Amino acid sequence: MIAQHFIDGAWSDIGERIAVEDPGTGESMGEVVLADPSCVDKAVVAADACARRGDLTRSRPAYRLSLMLQMAAAIRAVTEEGAEVLCRESGKPLRDARGEFEEAARYFEYYGGMADKLEGRSIPLGEDYFDWTMREPHGVSAHIVPWNFPVGIAARSLAAGLAAGNCVVLKSPELTPLALCILVKALASTDLPPGAINLISGDGAMTGEALVRHPLVQHIVFTGSVPTGRAILRAAAERIVPCVMELGGKSAAVVHADADIDTVVASVESGVFFNAGQVCSAMARLIVHESLHDRLVDAIAARAKALEIGHGLDDPDLSALISAPQLERVEQHCADAITQGAKAVTGGHRVRRAGYFMQPTVFTHVAPNMRVANDEIFGPVISLMPFADTTEAITLANGTDYGLVAGVFGQDLNRTLDTARQLEAGQVFVNEWFAGGVETPFGGTGQSGYGREKGLEALDNHLRTRNIAVRLNR
Ligand code: NAD
Repeated sequence: MIAQHFIDGAWSDIGERIAVEDPGTGESMGEVVLADPSCVDKAVVAADACARRGDLTRSRPAYRLSLMLQMAAAIRAVTEEGAEVLCRESGKPLRDARGEFEEAARYFEYYGGMADKLEGRSIPLGEDYFDWTMREPHGVSAHIVPWNFPVGIAARSLAAGLAAGNCVVLKSPELTPLALCILVKALASTDLPPGAINLISGDGAMTGEALVRHPLVQHIVFTGSVPTGRAILRAAAERIVPCVMELGGKSAAVVHADADIDTVVASVESGVFFNAGQVCSAMARLIVHESLHDRLVDAIAARAKALEIGHGLDDPDLSALISAPQLERVEQHCADAITQGAKAVTGGHRVRRAGYFMQPTVFTHVAPNMRVANDEIFGPVISLMPFADTTEAITLANGTDYGLVAGVFGQDLNRTLDTARQLEAGQVFVNEWFAGGVETPFGGTGQSGYGREKGLEALDNHLRTRNIAVRLNR
């Protein structure tokens, strides 16, 4: 399969190509065509023309609603085909790849249902004036997505952007570009006007740079790492382009003494081993009351050791990391942690087999100043740290530069909710990591970024407000 560009309603394969790997085997499974600046220009010009013609905005908004419901159905129709490709190019288990397509369909239903409800308001200024606000799209919106959930993350910003009436140029990630082509083919099988959604593939240095610097881009939604986010913000600052920044995390869960151990272990399994830990909102740190610490270490280590590791198509508990450099990085992080005094209760090394597999890893004896307690590792690695009182737990949990999500486990409602209130994060899970859905706003504070995706709040990013103030001549 070749990941091509979709520009102004047509597919094109012009450009240099690089291989796409199956990280579960280390073998090549396809190619991706890299968009050069002239190709990026064509995509942006097509989106701009579509926005100027008003193809998405001149009809009643119910048009976008019905278009987006068609899109949700079209996504469901390609789920099996798309999930298999996504599973192979990303390494993730097939069931999770299917889940990502289902999530994508849900975004189109959810935001489609909002397309005809984006109302303004009238503002009373006395009898001599009539004043109202309108909520308008930005025009051309550039969306840049990472490799870990390419389909789900692209769908979340595409759907909100489209509901608001924006025309989008989406840049796929160079490591996982293939399933996104299947998603976009499904979207294009509807009554989508040419230019409303354009897909370009390519790397960051050439394609991404050309996109964010293009003079017709009016809005940027970026999901990825902090250094790239910074580079994009610098480029956006040149033209004062509004951005949404969905960046990394080093999220912590606080486990109070009255927490249910089985509930915590189940949440650790999904929180840190889902997608092999390559999740921005992974549960990277578990801050545990000292009375539960040793029992929880034993229970989590036992669960980690029992995880079945395998190729995504076999639906294992733990799948491959995305690439050889990522495996190298994660293993090096573990080696550094051990050098600095952390103890690997289990794991710490790569799995010796074809593909890029890392052992599920559980660290104890982690001090707050160690890199393993502060840096985003993006692998199946969790650090447990004990605490004596709630103040200490909150200081530890809030002690990194990030603030994406956090969690609390416990039965005492007052203490649990009081802890949730004090955790500095855009979303706090209580008694279940990853509680929530497409309906709940998501996004960070600090180095985790700003702006919100998911939920109704995301629409605020994709719209701008215009006020019209009329002096009446009475
Ligand atoms: P990355 O920053 O390396 O790349 C992300 C995207 O940006 C890719 O498509 C890449 O090609 C592009 N890019 C790179 N340099 C660019 C440039 N100069 N200009 C424009 N585009 C450029 O991140 P990654 O390794 O793909 O993803 C992992 C990171 O993403 C982690 O830090 C993770 O926490 C974060 N992430 C955040 C969320 C969230 O919603 N907050 C979700 C998933 C992943």
